[in-house]
Amino acid sequence: MTSKKLHLIITGESGKGRTVAFEKTTLRNSLIALATVACILSVSAFFGVHNIQKNRQLQAIIDSSEAVQQQQLNALKTQLETALSEKESLADHYQQKLDAFKQNQEALLEDRISDFEQRSKVIETVINELGVKVKTDKAADHSGGPFISLDDYSDRLITDADTYLSLIKKMPLGFPIYTEISSPFGPRNDPMNKHRAFHEGIDFKGNTGDSVRSTGDAVVKKAGYQSGYGNCIVLQHGNGYETMYAHLSKRLVSRGDQVKRGQIIGRVGSTGRSTGSHLHYEVRHWGKAINPLKYMRVNGMTVTASN
Ligand SMILES: [Zn+2]
Repeated sequence: MTSKKLHLIITGESGKGRTVAFEKTTLRNSLIALATVACILSVSAFFGVHNIQKNRQLQAIIDSSEAVQQQQLNALKTQLETALSEKESLADHYQQKLDAFKQNQEALLEDRISDFEQRSKVIETVINELGVKVKTDKAADHSGGPFISLDDYSDRLITDADTYLSLIKKMPLGFPIYTEISSPFGPRNDPMNKHRAFHEGIDFKGNTGDSVRSTGDAVVKKAGYQSGYGNCIVLQHGNGYETMYAHLSKRLVSRGDQVKRGQIIGRVGSTGRSTGSHLHYEVRHWGKAINPLKYMRVNGMTVTASN
């Protein structure tokens, strides 16, 4: 009969021994259980280590991927910053150019206005010399007046200049014929009866047929024969001015015609009360005869524009 127990004898140095008995079945079962546990532990350990390695690899991949992304982000940020800075510097550049252009234009405009103002003053001086009153708005010339912008000021200058120009265009200025004066304006001995009389115009030497010209833009008020004056033309210039051209041999315009300065309106003659071929020229202002000499000599007038 085989023993079902396994005996384990443990002895000390003294020689005394102790016996431990195990059931064989129990021992086998215990060994199997122990081996199973050891096996499970080994597998678990293997898989644990494997997982840790996997995790480390994954972490490394993630870390490296994050680093790449960060680098890409940084590069993008740098690109954006560069583009923004370039854009700003370009905007600055064009703003500077625009500012310079504006300043240039303003300076140019101021120069032009100043130039225009000078010319306007020259015209004003000429007109004042002739004693003509021109109605223009001068309120802004007084100090402490309302603020007038440069635009308003230039508009006003243009309006003033237009007024002067339209006035000058019509005003009787210069000579009706380029010959010598034979008899001036004012008191004189009458050439026919030798009596003291007032000569209301200027007589110019001339030959029959010489051209007689209008001294300003006008409308023909009269073109006909008048006792004393013979064949004569009266022009209406506006602003109270009229001119008369008398003793003509020929009239080249009719009543109602529009004439321009310098236009030939008749020919020198000796019709009417006349001792020989000449032109009698009169300038009237609101009906009163005035000395035409002042108006004829405008060309030679010395004008100084003062600021
Ligand atoms: Zn005369």
